Amino acid sequence: MELTSPIEYLKGVGPAKGALLQKELSIFTLEDLLNHFPFRYIDRTQFFDIQSLPHHTGHVQVKGVLSRVQLLGQGRKKRLTAQLKDPTGTLELIWFSGITWIQKQLVEGAEYIAFGKIQVYFDQVNMPHPELERLEGQPIKKAQRLEPVYSSTEKLNAKGLDTRNRRKLIQHLFEKIRKEALPENLSNDLLNELQLLNRYEAYLNIHLPANNERLSRAIFRLKFEELFFLQLRLFMLKKVRKKNLKGFVFEKIGSYFNDFYQHHLPFNLTKAQQRVIKEIRQDLKAGIQMNRLLQGDVGSGKTIVAVLCILMALDNGFQSCLMAPTEILAKQHFEGIRELLIPLGIQVAYLSGSVKGKPRKEILEELANGHIDVLIGTHALIEPKVEFKQLGLAIIDEQHRFGVAQRAKLWNKSRPFPPHVLVMTATPIPRTLAMTLYGDLDVSVIDELPPGRKAVQTIHQTENNRLRVFGFMQEQIQIGRQIYVVYPLIEESETLDLQNLMEGYEAISRAFPMPDYQISIVHGKMKPADKDFEMQRFVTGQTQIMVATTVIEVGVNVPNASVMIIENTERFGLSQLHQLRGRVGRGADQSYCILMSSFKLSNEAKKRIKTMVDTNNGFEIAEADLELRGPGTIEGTQQSGLISFKLADISKDQALLKQARNLANTITEKDPQLMTPMNAPLKKHIEKHYQHVKGWSRIS
Ligand code: ADP
Ligand code: MG
Repeated sequence: MELTSPIEYLKGVGPAKGALLQKELSIFTLEDLLNHFPFRYIDRTQFFDIQSLPHHTGHVQVKGVLSRVQLLGQGRKKRLTAQLKDPTGTLELIWFSGITWIQKQLVEGAEYIAFGKIQVYFDQVNMPHPELERLEGQPIKKAQRLEPVYSSTEKLNAKGLDTRNRRKLIQHLFEKIRKEALPENLSNDLLNELQLLNRYEAYLNIHLPANNERLSRAIFRLKFEELFFLQLRLFMLKKVRKKNLKGFVFEKIGSYFNDFYQHHLPFNLTKAQQRVIKEIRQDLKAGIQMNRLLQGDVGSGKTIVAVLCILMALDNGFQSCLMAPTEILAKQHFEGIRELLIPLGIQVAYLSGSVKGKPRKEILEELANGHIDVLIGTHALIEPKVEFKQLGLAIIDEQHRFGVAQRAKLWNKSRPFPPHVLVMTATPIPRTLAMTLYGDLDVSVIDELPPGRKAVQTIHQTENNRLRVFGFMQEQIQIGRQIYVVYPLIEESETLDLQNLMEGYEAISRAFPMPDYQISIVHGKMKPADKDFEMQRFVTGQTQIMVATTVIEVGVNVPNASVMIIENTERFGLSQLHQLRGRVGRGADQSYCILMSSFKLSNEAKKRIKTMVDTNNGFEIAEADLELRGPGTIEGTQQSGLISFKLADISKDQALLKQARNLANTITEKDPQLMTPMNAPLKKHIEKHYQHVKGWSRIS
């Protein structure tokens, strides 16, 4: 049989079960079945004595005879119990749900293997919701001590596709296919270097392991394969792009750059900033279009790097643009950058949806005739009407707010080459994840904060300490500081959240009455102009408190604001909390971040809050986030579809990922198109499995 054969043709399946496998597990072909790996194995030789159970924690396997199946309790307290007896003692099994169905399956007097987590309750040992398997007299075969356990659903169980029958299906499958059905896809070099099982052996042993050693080698091999092919594709993409995408050559460092660097730089650059600028400089003069991601924690000083790049472009006769995700941010960049560049006689203009009529027309004209050197704005910049005389550099701030398609539009704004692209992001991404997500981009990291920053002090407070928090706010305002109070806003519950925000605003207004205190408020339902007005009042120090939703999350810079109060902290994710906290600690004063929450918190919320209190390091926070939530939930990763691994786990398999990446790099260095006979299996595999993945090359 071919691996592409429909699943219903396999012995023991048929049309009805086939349909169910499709519906419940998306298993359509033999190959799909093969790629549905066990999630656990039962070691048939390892049973615990029941009398020893109180000394164990976690999962255990016991074997015994079932007796006294009974229904107990009423209504919500209703439960099913049974006893499992071995020669050393008795264990109570308990079920709270699915009772009727389970009761029907249980046979008193039969021998069972139970697997589950032990609970000790007043000296009584029990096992809630065990995995049960009846031993129907068959002796345990020596050859098959490790039995695979497959994830299942109630429907599958009911229709005879429980884990035991699935095991049989896999056995049938391996009886039916020949080794050639699973041809090797790695080169001999790789197999030898890493001592890998061949592909057929690996599949066989992950399903039907001969022993523990074979099993771990099978898992290792298949995990490696997953990580390796992803990295290989990324490197091939990067190399193809490097070869084909010619770019403008910014040959010289000229008078704009030098004048600014020597006379107008407002501070000394950090080592990290200097290094990053060198990296970018190398790209810009290489004759290849730059596609670089600049990562740096909030406040690490990415803006000045952008400014220096703009100057390099100007020295070579090119215009630049800088695009930010919100009007507030774009305005702030415009004002800051214009101030820096005016002394050099550079023309900086601002464009957003709210720039209309005659001013807009003028800007578009001057952009096209080359009068304007630098254009800063929102995504209004990428509209087709916006034409440059000679755009050489496009900078995108806080990239996670922009879609791929929007970025692609920038590419059409210059001829004959696309502009160099620098993407700046403050969302710290753990290294391993970055390797995977941006494996085809060049990455620069600013891993150092400017000197003299005082770390933000982070404090957790519960609702009953509200008055103390108000007291603290009063003290801080008295010594001239400004305060943010931030509320969550999640789109599904927008009205409720708005109400929440308004109530908070009223409470604060009562505690901080006019005319002694002035309060700004900003939320998503306001008109852009009103938002701007309120924001400006805060920026210029007319108001002391800014009550806002997360619209201020990204990039806003008010150095005098030194207190950040976050309401309903439990509703924010870690990276968002970190972004918010980054709004303070920008001036010389000691800054504070107060995390308000209710008293009762989930374990995960507790961990998030503890992480925030314990560290200010964005990369540590990103690592914690990755561990807590898994990679799939990190912003921007879902759409990419790049990290849906079956076996590998980017946070746990970092070493293997690095190894796979290094090997993929070495191979593509020597043989970028995989043309040598040695690499033929790799090429064949990629052609077979990935050619159809559309738009894959447009990820950046
Ligand atoms: P971000 O990386 O979050 O965009 P910014 O570029 O806004 O950070 O910089 C944060 C603040 O730090 C700004 O006020 C900026 O002027 C200041 N800054 C940046 N680099 C340095 C430096 N090397 N020394 C001192 N201050 C710096
Ligand atoms: Mg910034």
